[in-house]
Amino acid sequence: MINRVQCNGARQLLGFSDIDEAVCAPPPCAALLETQLKPAHILRVMGLLRFWRIVLSRPKQCMLRRVWDAIESHHSTSHPMSLNLEVRSLQQKHPIPIGTSVPNPKNKPAWKELINGIAKTEMNTWVAEHDAKGGRAHAYCLITHKHMADKRPDTPAYLQDKELRPNQRRNIALMRTQAAAYVAAHAQHRAGTALYGPAAGYGERYCTQQSCKRRRIVDSTEHVMLKCPSHEPARQAMVTKADAALTAAAIGAPHGSNIGSLAAAGSDARQLQVLLGSPPPHSINGDDKHYSAVLQASADFIREVYDWRWTDKRTV
Ligand SMILES: [Zn+2]
Repeated sequence: MINRVQCNGARQLLGFSDIDEAVCAPPPCAALLETQLKPAHILRVMGLLRFWRIVLSRPKQCMLRRVWDAIESHHSTSHPMSLNLEVRSLQQKHPIPIGTSVPNPKNKPAWKELINGIAKTEMNTWVAEHDAKGGRAHAYCLITHKHMADKRPDTPAYLQDKELRPNQRRNIALMRTQAAAYVAAHAQHRAGTALYGPAAGYGERYCTQQSCKRRRIVDSTEHVMLKCPSHEPARQAMVTKADAALTAAAIGAPHGSNIGSLAAAGSDARQLQVLLGSPPPHSINGDDKHYSAVLQASADFIREVYDWRWTDKRTV
């Protein structure tokens, strides 16, 4: 229930709409990560720890504290659903470093740091579990460079970009979170569509462009954005605009601090990161307007892909 509420919140923040029939439900992992909302079990961990602080902050004769201490003193026989046991298991899972102790309950900043640290560890474990299963969550992690040592936990650049129109932001969000039905890669939620036929497994999501289909090329985000011959004219227009913006960003910047062109970003994965709002660290510095232009070019390209594939239903 809580996960569903959080996921609906994530959809709203990203601008997803059920009204558009070409948009399918985003996988919760990517959508929650994207909006920095948390799944229910992490919220519960944080709530439990906050409650523990409140208990410890009460005087020993206070009813709440007395009940807590009474259950603690008989913890081996306490009810398996008791909050005391849950807090105990959290303490065992996330031990306080030797030589330190639990912060004074009146020291709220220290507790906040403690709780956020534990929540972050739990969150990383959750992300790693989803990532290890492959599929959409793994593709999301690659695009948002969560595999790199230099992780950037801040809100993605494109969500903070004031220059992007809401529909441009949404187009990028859909590609990043692998939630779009723009491409076959994301169409499996829409089983039985006229264009894509019956639902296929994630590994069999072949591009519907005829030459790609013959060669059984998987319609990944990388294929759509950088490779599929169907979209070459639109792609050239996107790259021209992106390169012009990146060149402008590089002028006046300290030598070597900006990439200057899309190709200079390096591997396909890195180019995707630039196009979809998570530029590799230190690749683009300076005036944000230049990067906005890159994102606008990318969002408009995604829209053209959508029109080509879904509105025109073309497969050549
Ligand atoms: Zn293709």
